[in-house]
Amino acid sequence: MKIPFLSFSPQHHPIRTEVMAAIADVYDKQWYVLGEQVKAFEAEYSAFNQVAQTIGVANGLDALHLALEALGVQPGDEVIVPSNTYIATWLAISFVGGVPVPVEPDAHTYNLDPELLEAAITPRTKGIMPVHLYGQACAMGPIMAIARRHGLWVVEDNAQAQGATWEGGVVGSFGAANGTSFYPGKNLGALGDAGAVTTKDEALATKIRTLRNYGSQQKYYNEVIGHNSRLDELQAAVLRVKLAHLPAWTAQRQAVAALYQQHLADIPGLVLPATAAGATHVYHLYVVRSAHRDALQQHLTNAGIGTLIHYPVPPHRQQAYAHLNIPAGTYPIAEELAATSLSLPMWPGMTEEHVAEVAAAVRAFEPVAVPA
Ligand SMILES: *Cc1c(COP(=O)(O)O)cnc(C)c1O
Repeated sequence: MKIPFLSFSPQHHPIRTEVMAAIADVYDKQWYVLGEQVKAFEAEYSAFNQVAQTIGVANGLDALHLALEALGVQPGDEVIVPSNTYIATWLAISFVGGVPVPVEPDAHTYNLDPELLEAAITPRTKGIMPVHLYGQACAMGPIMAIARRHGLWVVEDNAQAQGATWEGGVVGSFGAANGTSFYPGKNLGALGDAGAVTTKDEALATKIRTLRNYGSQQKYYNEVIGHNSRLDELQAAVLRVKLAHLPAWTAQRQAVAALYQQHLADIPGLVLPATAAGATHVYHLYVVRSAHRDALQQHLTNAGIGTLIHYPVPPHRQQAYAHLNIPAGTYPIAEELAATSLSLPMWPGMTEEHVAEVAAAVRAFEPVAVPA
């Protein structure tokens, strides 16, 4: 049996008729940009995310960029960011002229370590961008307390963790303005690019609504130099159908993770995901670690099992950030994670047989003994 890294079929097949009807409705109503579908999706997503306002935008990167722009980040402002995130978090800071200041993650949860935050704060620091990596909520209590103490804003990167919670609060509802992504493979995925900002702050929401639409609130009157970054009506219509199923799909991801945990718990040298007290995990990705990662990946490929590496190169080691002149070894936890992490197949609708087969293949892997 071939097992792909990701299959949409169990999610998409049962709702095909419903999605096609939603698409046909947009087609027939002939209102394709910022119409009733976007408005309704924004209201429904706000209810889901426990915020007053959702602003639908073109993608997750724009959501983070517009949030930082609305908060008034200026050239030279420092923004604290995880050393082990997807590069989008850093790029959003760079777009507004800010300086990404990396902080290492906790070595077990892979999320920003609150203990290390204060040492990274300088007089130029303006904000903190926690990333709920792989689907696990960050320690938002301690992070928000440190931000308050130092007069900093928080912008959560919630691209991977829709619906995860920290002590009962939904991620994407803690920060001043937070970005999420509906890239197809995310837990709530559109049929193309899409994203949103979530916020409890009405004034900030108005700024971001203006920025996403040419800096205009009233057609052909432009208050600020804005962007064209709007969520499409078609994507909003699809997302409305899918949002209703997200809690069930999340439960399925968590059940798959529990099965993996049962099957893989006693394999020597294999590190499984750990969830912190207070946090929930919605398993956007199921990431294991092995000192023999590349050989394990090759072994699984040979067995017909799809895997990916999230992420092979941390942002500070990317060519795009060569100008920061950060030497290798500066962020050892991020570099260790990049060298050892492997994402196993994970999607709602994976069966017990799928999980058992992946686990059997992982168990059968024998790293070549290194001569002493
Ligand atoms: C996917 C992702 C983004 C960017 O979202 P896009 O919709 O692809 O622009 C940002 N941050 C993280 C952590 C992501 O995983």
